[in-house]
Amino acid sequence: MQSLFKGIFNHNLLGGDYQTNVSYKLLSINNNWFHLNYIDETVRIQNNQKKRKAFAIYQLFYLNLNNQLFYHILRPSSKLHEDIKENFKNMDDNKKLSRRQFIRTLGLGSVSALGMMAFEPITSLASPKTPETGSKQNDMTYRINRHTKDKVSLLGFGMMRLPRNATGGIDQQKTNELVDYALAHGVNYFDTAPVYKGSEVATGNALSRHKRSSYYLASKCSDIHKYSLEDGKQMFKTTLERLHTDYIDYYLLHAVGGGGLDKLKERFINNGLLDWLCEQRDKGVIRNLGFSYHGDVKVFDWLLDHNDKYKFTFCQIEMNYIDWKHASATGGGWKHDADAVYLYEKSEKAGVQNVIMEPLLGGRLGKLPEEFSKMLKEKRPEASDAQWAFRWVGSHPNVLTTLSGMNLMEHLKDNLATFSPLDPCTPQENDLLDSIANGMMGYPVVPCTACRYCMPCPYGVDIPGNFAYYNDQVNAHKLPDKTKPDYTEKKAAFVKGWKNTIKEENRADQCMDCEACLPKCPQSIRIPTQLANILEITR
Ligand code: SF4
Ligand code: SF4
Repeated sequence: MQSLFKGIFNHNLLGGDYQTNVSYKLLSINNNWFHLNYIDETVRIQNNQKKRKAFAIYQLFYLNLNNQLFYHILRPSSKLHEDIKENFKNMDDNKKLSRRQFIRTLGLGSVSALGMMAFEPITSLASPKTPETGSKQNDMTYRINRHTKDKVSLLGFGMMRLPRNATGGIDQQKTNELVDYALAHGVNYFDTAPVYKGSEVATGNALSRHKRSSYYLASKCSDIHKYSLEDGKQMFKTTLERLHTDYIDYYLLHAVGGGGLDKLKERFINNGLLDWLCEQRDKGVIRNLGFSYHGDVKVFDWLLDHNDKYKFTFCQIEMNYIDWKHASATGGGWKHDADAVYLYEKSEKAGVQNVIMEPLLGGRLGKLPEEFSKMLKEKRPEASDAQWAFRWVGSHPNVLTTLSGMNLMEHLKDNLATFSPLDPCTPQENDLLDSIANGMMGYPVVPCTACRYCMPCPYGVDIPGNFAYYNDQVNAHKLPDKTKPDYTEKKAAFVKGWKNTIKEENRADQCMDCEACLPKCPQSIRIPTQLANILEITR
């Protein structure tokens, strides 16, 4: 960057009686950007006397993205004079970043934060106040919690699905190894919940071997079936015990949205549970109070619209480059969900940072249909589909952390490579992912994220397994279509693959339509209907 800086700026303009001196003062520089004052002074020389005619000083930011230099004019101190504009004629307009693109690309936090920053000494960009920094010990990218100043790793560890041993229980030894490796490489946010079977215990066992101040614990009030204040208090107490701690850093109202406002009020408001949780937050037993949202957007709106009272500092939303604009269209056709762009922008406006779940949309964005995967490979041959999806999420400045379930060391290492440090998506890359998201709408998959909340099915159906098989066939263009000449052939292949993949007792035809799974699915998928669709193909 030093050499780029020196190479770009070196000129004075002279003409007639007027002399324009342009000088640059380097304010800060690092590997990816430099930041300078542009000082432009025009004087008129008459009778050997200099008279200042115009003077402007403003800040320019240059970003090195994939070895191309993009720029953004951060703060003109006055309107640009025509002669100053002249100086910029040689600058490529395509390389000019709008304010919005600039904020997104640099990952500097909210628009208001940027506005404030422009009035602070410029060295603040490299100071501990910086919302995003690289670590000296490792290269993990961190985000700063604007309320508590926690320095949170942009990669968070989702502890829902942990390694299993031969008897089906959680393998504590392997869990410890993953946790130790993650901590050693800068991951410091660990997300669990009472309803993730065995997870709180295993997470507590693994993390309590380390200094409590070296990690942030997130857990949830998963009062899915019992709604009394006493039940909520007991759940919180049990969580503290399982996690071997006397405080929780991030505590969430779990999975609000399903069942609409009535259910929210039944679970948290009318029984006084949310007020009690706020009291725990005020005492410091809960350091940050938030909620995880799935489903009815009226609930999301209600909570943020009442944030003066509840003071949520974060909320967990499902966000990825498909859900950004298409969540409302892919929600199984019956939930009143909103696109992630709405959730994200509303959170940002409310000053509430986002924890992101489903960055890969249940794994779907980790293995794209070939035509889209090829498009990405042409741009970055070495990058996996999953890395693109994680980079896209991490490029959004209001994101505090991005959760990933990593039950294999290779997944953890792959994710560490993506976030250490994060290489934000360029505007052009965002456009490419946007076009892929549009293209993916032509693939009628079931929006199952494989979260397994619906399991076990009392009749033995492997619900996510059947959906995963079906979705793979859709993505590979292998779905039989009665109107096409290859229907019989494709149908036979579909059935054969289904039988090889799913055991007889777990197939869709075991579904008794009991609907026990329906209220458990955060994606509001009409599970028995979708299973019946699969069955229909096999008949
Ligand atoms: S509706 Fe079907 S899949 Fe759902 S729980 Fe009942 S039997 Fe299982
Ligand atoms: S059907 Fe719903 S609850 Fe079941 S695994 Fe898929 S997304 Fe999760």
